[in-house]
Amino acid sequence: SKHITGHTGLLCLLGSPVTHSVSPEMHNEACDQLGLDYTYLAFDVPEDKMPEAVQGLRTMGARGWNITMPGKNIMCKLADKVSPASEISGACNTIVNDNGVLTAYTTDGVGFMRAVKEDGVDIIGKKMTLLGAGGAATAILVQAALDGVAEINVFNVRDNFFARAEEIVAKLNERTECKVTLHDFSDPEVLRASIADSAILVNGTSVGMAPNVDRTIITDTSMFHKDLFVFDVIYNPQETRLLREAKEAGCKTGNGMYMLLYQGAASFKLWTGEEMPVEIIKEKYFS
Ligand code: NDP
Repeated sequence: SKHITGHTGLLCLLGSPVTHSVSPEMHNEACDQLGLDYTYLAFDVPEDKMPEAVQGLRTMGARGWNITMPGKNIMCKLADKVSPASEISGACNTIVNDNGVLTAYTTDGVGFMRAVKEDGVDIIGKKMTLLGAGGAATAILVQAALDGVAEINVFNVRDNFFARAEEIVAKLNERTECKVTLHDFSDPEVLRASIADSAILVNGTSVGMAPNVDRTIITDTSMFHKDLFVFDVIYNPQETRLLREAKEAGCKTGNGMYMLLYQGAASFKLWTGEEMPVEIIKEKYFS
């Protein structure tokens, strides 16, 4: 086991629940591989206790932390500085502590962009159809617009996040070159037309996630076309019904597993300045 000394730095995950998370294994393995003297722990912290947890971590000089649900929004407010992507989305999954100054970042969207690129698909300057406006979908939306995707049609599947999505879409249209439009999911012909000239279709909802593996967000598979790359944020199962049917229709597909890996790699880089040895992590924890 790890040799922990008085010099060992602290990294951690805050949220509730946290015991299912692969982040502790991923980051501890990466630190071991590179000989970096940090240890990464997971702490179950409910949303209303986040201010206390942050005060403690700041006082104790933790180098940084990840935040999972339900703390992603409140953590942004607790930070001293906020990255452009976190400012637009109002959410963060990573805090870097520079001698008591906390900066909030969101690396989920960075992870998505890298996962797509490593799948050999270029979406810069192209059109995207994005389903959902929850946490994962928003992270993807913001990063894709910042990174140069030309046009994004967001389909709000249910109403919970509509007002928030409207605000974010307005900010992106004002601050980026990307043309972003928010649509209602209920009109299948608008969706069909959007998918028809999109390079990529992203499921950003939890529809199809285990245990509801029989479900899919696209029930009419005639919307798929062979030039479409279909990406699902879900990583459990690795092949959702959506991806299986897209593949059958001749589409190239990608799942959320490497998005998860690469968001971790991006956070790791922010804390340590080093590249995560992703091939080793892939082999051990993502295969
Ligand atoms: P949120 O709760 O923030 O968002 C969920 C989204 O799914 C919302 O748009 C929601 O719509 C929609 N949705 C949920 N159930 C239904 C339903 N029955 N019918 C239609 N729409 C539905 O969750 P997250 O964004 O955090 O997570 C979404 C998925 O992404 C999960 O499967 C999660 O595991 C995965 N994820 C993957 C990551 C990765 O790195 N690969 C990172 C983060 C999440 P509404 O708001 O109207 O309810």
